[in-house]
Amino acid sequence: MFSLETANIERAINNAKALHPKVKMIEFGTYEVTGSTGNTYIVRCYRAAGEKIVECNCATRAGVACKHGLAAVSLHIALAARRGH
Ligand SMILES: [Zn+2]
Repeated sequence: MFSLETANIERAINNAKALHPKVKMIEFGTYEVTGSTGNTYIVRCYRAAGEKIVECNCATRAGVACKHGLAAVSLHIALAARRGH
C-alpha cells in the first residue's frame, strides 16, 4: 500500500510505461493488473484522510509505489474524472 502524495512514484511510472501492464476494471476502485510474468494482482484505489491510497497485493513493501498500482491508478483517475469526482 502506498499514498500518491508521499511515495516516490516516478520510478513506478517509468516501469509501468516500459512493461505495459494490462489493467482490467473489476468495479470502480478495484482493478486487476496483469504483470510482466503473467501474474495477476488486485489493486484497490481509494481515498483515506484526504490521501489517495493505492493497495496492491504484490510483494512490494508498504510505502513503495509498484508498477501495478500506478497502472491501475492511471485508469482510476481517468474514470474518476469522467464520473466528475
Ligand atoms: Zn503491485
